[in-house]
Amino acid sequence: MNTEKLFDEAPYDRDFRAAITDIIKTKEGRTGLILDRTLFFPEEGGQSCDKGTIGEFEITHVSIENEIIVHETDAPFDAFSKGDQVKGVIDWDHRFSNMQNHTGEHILSGLLHRDFGSENMGFHLSDNIVTLDTSKVLTQDQLQELERKANEVVYADLPVFCRYYTKEETDGIDYRSKLELDDNIRLVVIPGVDICACCAPHVKHTGEIGLIKIIKAINYKGGMRFSILSGRRAYEYVSEECRRVDDLTHILSEKRENLITAVNRLLEKNESYRLEKIENAKKMLEAQVEKIDDSAKDAVIFVEEVNDITQRNAVNDLAAKHNGICGVFSGNDSDGYRYIISIPGGDAREASNILKEKLQAKGGGSKEMVQGSVNARKDIIMEALNGRR
Ligand SMILES: [Zn+2]
Repeated sequence: MNTEKLFDEAPYDRDFRAAITDIIKTKEGRTGLILDRTLFFPEEGGQSCDKGTIGEFEITHVSIENEIIVHETDAPFDAFSKGDQVKGVIDWDHRFSNMQNHTGEHILSGLLHRDFGSENMGFHLSDNIVTLDTSKVLTQDQLQELERKANEVVYADLPVFCRYYTKEETDGIDYRSKLELDDNIRLVVIPGVDICACCAPHVKHTGEIGLIKIIKAINYKGGMRFSILSGRRAYEYVSEECRRVDDLTHILSEKRENLITAVNRLLEKNESYRLEKIENAKKMLEAQVEKIDDSAKDAVIFVEEVNDITQRNAVNDLAAKHNGICGVFSGNDSDGYRYIISIPGGDAREASNILKEKLQAKGGGSKEMVQGSVNARKDIIMEALNGRR
């Protein structure tokens, strides 16, 4: 016997009484209650299921198969008997939030279809975010227009009608999510905005949604993937974002409207500081090259970050005077080093092979010169190179 879906007619009811018609063991070995009627909306059509309790036990999941709804619980199998009358209570905050988010999604999908010729290709309503995949890419201006129009529909407080239609009634009605079998179809109608086949509970008036917010819209499979939030979840998201911006104004001691300029100024400062550091490191490197005794065979220098050309020039200067390992390591002990090495009296690849073998360095090159990167401390690198002889 099909489970009677009380949520179809009474989406605002929070509790109900029902008789247990069967008790099954789910695939995971849990207790599954089947009732003659239920307010629990099962996971279906991309939407997460209702939460709540039956008797004293929490319902952990609700599924539907062949029109029979199964309420999963951690209760022991013998906690219930067939024929028991039980009271079910749904988590109303969760349900109402799902209703706000689902109707919000219908409004956006309806407007996308009506005004932008973009179709809904997929929908998922989780407990955190609603994603919506569509068939067309919209510009930034169009996205803003879509969000504005969706919220106008909220302000207009339009009625939302949900009921089952016979085949004759649906003939000639242009609705989204058209199904193969079009008899006894539940249509959700928002006059002038959207008609869509849907099995889920919806709010009765669009004003109850409060706010529809497009959080993100990225290009996806030739169309777009929207992350959207409506109602309480949208409000909580916006509050959180405001708090974050507020924190930034305190950290940067700037007014909200000046934040972008302030961050850009910081980035510029940071970049000029970085360039100055590189310039100083270059001078230090040149001084170190000068300082090494001409009679030394090897000449290896560690220096703060310098650019490639500076590093290469220094290696060439060293190689003109020394015929052992002539190397410059640019970087620091914690982030690692970029190296360039030449061995005028031998094969430079010998040095990079040692660094690769002993220190998992990356890189390579020719007999004349090798380069790469190594994540190790200065003393460890020196020990590896000295071990070469
Ligand atoms: Zn729907």
